[in-house]
Amino acid sequence: MGVVCTSSNKQKQIKVNEVIKTEPKPTEKPSSKENNEIDNKKNNNISNVSTGDSKQMTVAIDSNVLVSKGALNPDDIYIRQKLLGKGAYGAVYLVKHKDLHKYYAMKIILKKKKSKAEEEALMNEINILKKLDHPNILKITDFYSLKTEYNIITEYCQEGELFNEIRAYAPFCEPIAGYYMKQILTAVCYCHGMNVIHRDLKPENILIVKRAKSGCHPIKIIDFGTAKVFSKGKNENLLMKVFAKNFSEK
Ligand code: ATP
Ligand code: MG
Repeated sequence: MGVVCTSSNKQKQIKVNEVIKTEPKPTEKPSSKENNEIDNKKNNNISNVSTGDSKQMTVAIDSNVLVSKGALNPDDIYIRQKLLGKGAYGAVYLVKHKDLHKYYAMKIILKKKKSKAEEEALMNEINILKKLDHPNILKITDFYSLKTEYNIITEYCQEGELFNEIRAYAPFCEPIAGYYMKQILTAVCYCHGMNVIHRDLKPENILIVKRAKSGCHPIKIIDFGTAKVFSKGKNENLLMKVFAKNFSEK
């Protein structure tokens, strides 16, 4: 299988067995269908690369379309579209990737507002998000440390907070409530299996990815800013202490 990657500052050269097709033309509407179609096309291209059996050729891929690990300024890569929300630690914007024409969320955290402990908490959030990979947990795609701010790029959940859904439609019927609970509990179980406790689970930190006709909308947990990694042995009773504290306060 002839897949050879070499990289330079500006471009990555990849020798593949088949031509990689170009991405579809941009449209202005940020729909999940649009993002999913782009994802599917990308996946098809990846499978073309690994299964083709024709002669080798070289394809040049602009390094901007690859996860850059903060090498460039994010404003060279993404165009800001609108404010999505504000939290205790910063603002979150909808952004569009200039080359992929795909939508992401960009969380901006100003450095001057951060104490040393808060900076450590942010790095903690990045490191935790990087190691988690679950369909109901928001994925981080890129991270930038600039002069005055940090930028975290993640998947975009276009339908907003579960909080608003609850305000508009609760109480939910049993199948819908059950579907939300199943997604939340599988994500929480996965986190605990990875020794991570979220510690700020609330409807504002659960986003709806897209609307399903059935009313069973897929959701993702966000905001690992106060999450902690617990190490077995050292603080394995931490969860019990958190539960005990919560119950005694009520
Ligand atoms: P908090 O006050 O909860 O600590 P925070 O500063 O840590 O907030 P987040 O909770 O991550 O920030 O985001 C704030 C709000 O921005 C969310 O409640 C949500 O409305 C919006 N938001 C965040 N990430 C996304 C995303 N990936 N897609 C769509 N909207 C988002
Ligand atoms: Mg939040």
